[in-house]
Amino acid sequence: MLTTLKKVLAAADKGGYAVGAFNVNNLEIVQAVIETAVEKRSPVIIQTSEGAIEYAGMPFLIALIRTAAQAPVPVVMHLDHGKDLKVIKLAIDSGYTSVMFDGSLYKFAENVAKTKKVVGWAKPKGVSVEAEIGAIKGVEDLVSVSEKQAFFTDPAEAGRFVKATGCDALAISIGTAHGAYKSKTAPTLDIERLGKIDAAVKVPIVLHGASGISAELVAKTKNYCETLEDCSRLEGAVGIPDDQILAAIKHGVRKINIDSDLRIAFTAGLRETVVTDHKAIDPRKLLALSKKLMKEVVGHKMDLFGSTGKAKK
Ligand SMILES: [Zn+2]
Repeated sequence: MLTTLKKVLAAADKGGYAVGAFNVNNLEIVQAVIETAVEKRSPVIIQTSEGAIEYAGMPFLIALIRTAAQAPVPVVMHLDHGKDLKVIKLAIDSGYTSVMFDGSLYKFAENVAKTKKVVGWAKPKGVSVEAEIGAIKGVEDLVSVSEKQAFFTDPAEAGRFVKATGCDALAISIGTAHGAYKSKTAPTLDIERLGKIDAAVKVPIVLHGASGISAELVAKTKNYCETLEDCSRLEGAVGIPDDQILAAIKHGVRKINIDSDLRIAFTAGLRETVVTDHKAIDPRKLLALSKKLMKEVVGHKMDLFGSTGKAKK
């Protein structure tokens, strides 16, 4: 059933677990996510970025996610990283049950003003709003640790921000980064800072850039694409280790975004199939292993986040 982010995260807060938010752009990814949610009896957040909307078109994505939401588990239809206010307004008016406004690159006052505007559109329609303070950069944007920390979320500022905007969930920056090409050394999340933010805000916290970048799947991907620059950049890439995810959940993280891990699983499956099965011309067969590997990723996350078995009948 289709529900709001606010409701799903309130239950997660009560139960001390987190809910996975999976980025989708096509039918097979939606199927992998919802089929696993049903098998695991887990609530799930299905999210589309502005890039996904550009690729597939909002009406197609809405139809796919609405259909997925007929499953007997709570499903949130969420707009990830909304930056264009027109797209956000359209999502709110078109049936999304939750939107993110990412004003993290604005100065505090402007971020507050724009977030308030979005909350003003969303609240009367019962749509939840995720906002962001402190920038979560891509790995390539960062050179040194001190540069990285300059973008970390300030706990006191986060407290003032939530109070001023009335947002329902808050994305923060504590050391994760977007993208599949994570740092070559294991990142360390600033859990102490997270604890302070959790104490300062009364809303659930969202962790972006939280993919684990499985060495096994990277190896599988690399097996069949060694000549491609993107693949060689995956060499030795390290994501967020599972134990740091667990520590983050212990300190108030209730929504965890996963995109890169699905992309790597999709690519690993597709490359293996194309290289090893010289007869397949049926798109359904070409994408079968991708879907299977994505389902394994989603299932692992649901177990790790503690949302398995948490869907009410
Ligand atoms: Zn993000």
